[in-house]
Amino acid sequence: MDYKKIAEILFPNNKLTVEEIEKKYPPRNLPAGTEVTRFAPSPTGFMHIGGLFQAIIDKNIAKRSNGVYMLRIEDTDKKREVIGASTIILNILKKYGAMPDEYEEKGVKVVGNYGPYFQSEREEIYKAYAKKLVSEGKAFPCFCRKTEGLNDVKEKREKMFALGLTEDKDPCRNLTEEQIEEYVKDGKTFAVKLKAKGNGQGKVKIVDVLKGELEMQENGEDAVLLKSDFMPTYAFAHAVDDHLMGTTTVVRGEEWLPSYPLHLEIFDALEFKRVKYVHTPLIYKIRENGGKTKISKRIDDEADMRYFSKEGYEPEAVEEYLINLANSNFEIWRKENPTAPLQDFPFDGFNITAITPVFDIVKLNDISKEMIAKYNAEKCYNRLLAWAEENSLENVEYLKKDKEYVLKVLNIDREKEKPRKDIYKWGMFFDYYNYMFAFPKSYQIDESERKKFEEVLREYKKYIDLKDKNVWFEKIKEMSEKLGYAVDNKEYKKNPQNFKGNVAKVCEFIRVAVTGQKNSPDLYEIMSVLGADKVLERLSLIV
Ligand code: GLU
Repeated sequence: MDYKKIAEILFPNNKLTVEEIEKKYPPRNLPAGTEVTRFAPSPTGFMHIGGLFQAIIDKNIAKRSNGVYMLRIEDTDKKREVIGASTIILNILKKYGAMPDEYEEKGVKVVGNYGPYFQSEREEIYKAYAKKLVSEGKAFPCFCRKTEGLNDVKEKREKMFALGLTEDKDPCRNLTEEQIEEYVKDGKTFAVKLKAKGNGQGKVKIVDVLKGELEMQENGEDAVLLKSDFMPTYAFAHAVDDHLMGTTTVVRGEEWLPSYPLHLEIFDALEFKRVKYVHTPLIYKIRENGGKTKISKRIDDEADMRYFSKEGYEPEAVEEYLINLANSNFEIWRKENPTAPLQDFPFDGFNITAITPVFDIVKLNDISKEMIAKYNAEKCYNRLLAWAEENSLENVEYLKKDKEYVLKVLNIDREKEKPRKDIYKWGMFFDYYNYMFAFPKSYQIDESERKKFEEVLREYKKYIDLKDKNVWFEKIKEMSEKLGYAVDNKEYKKNPQNFKGNVAKVCEFIRVAVTGQKNSPDLYEIMSVLGADKVLERLSLIV
């Protein structure tokens, strides 16, 4: 067989040869040990939280070795592509601390010398390598769709099986030069397939950074490399692109593990240097029945990264949470280093300890609370406003108009040694502080205590003085004593029957009257931000 001739027949008009391409994409001139990674999502219109998890790992692997981390958009499946999806991806990466070093913004700019970073723009490259494989007898054309009237490979297999043809190799391997020439002349389209070396029975050793050495069934399939529209399959593009772009470590979901032997075979057929692989575990979630299943965009809002933006989570908190999910030492480290920047945590992207990471929103909320508690009021205001501008337009005008008041509200129990840890996302702000913007809608008071409640409020109306916290509390105590409440807690504990309650109870009544709730941030701060008039107004609504 004259493979070179077949390659010419199949690809007479290639614009580039492999030699030219290799020259255009020389090996990166980086010191030994430098890592080059890439995040390679398909533009399906949304970014899965597992995607960001991978991107953060990619970024850390590259960063820790002063390497390069790229974004490559795998848009060869035009049916699945959503317009604008790559912008969504890039924006999310930017926001969540995983901005790539090399990427492309369609029609705007290309950053990096190894592009195009959209696979759909690399057609000539794939064609050149496909031609090379055909010319070396390592790949062959398959005309099946048109010649046999069959719809897909699976159907063809089934037909072969029905005919008792157990050989798992594609019959198109046996086409003669003449047949190929004739089909092409007739305008028949073809796919290019790998001539698999093995029969699928043997074993191959593969290495995954997290799982170690594994033995897997060898590839036995004449897998499609180039589809009839000349777009590559994932496997072929993965090999060609990661080779040319100088990738050293491929971070990808563990759903790709089963096809690893095929990928190796393609790398070897193309004589490419093999790369390292990190197959990341999928993220799970505990279900109501106690079991756990993969977090999925069908049933879980949190699967879609836009959820976190909409709710107003701090991107830094989400990033920190995902690193915590990847490496179980994080929690202890954070306890010991409460104020250290996240980059100080020794996470190099390879030290992933999670076998089955389980998404836990409570943990994320805790991380976020800790983080927000350290912000000053001004920073909170800026973040709140930025969130509203994107997600809650109805609040923007108010936030701008009443900035001074909002700042005061944000400053309640903040900017002190032990700030309150309560707000974990900006979307909860107006709900959480509803009583700072409107009268309470209801009051958390037991009916059995209503008389005492009203008595305290009636009396307190005479005592409102918010100029100084100490003076304020002295007055509360004075009033408490007058009404028969204990001021000395020890005494109260000894003889509770002698009192109506203690001073804490008095404060609780006032708190309920002002906020509607039994629990709230510092009562004095709340009242002084509201001002004496408004407090009086609230008391007057009740008594
Ligand atoms: N486009 C593939 C995916 O979204 C990429 C896998 C890889 O990173 O190689 O799963």
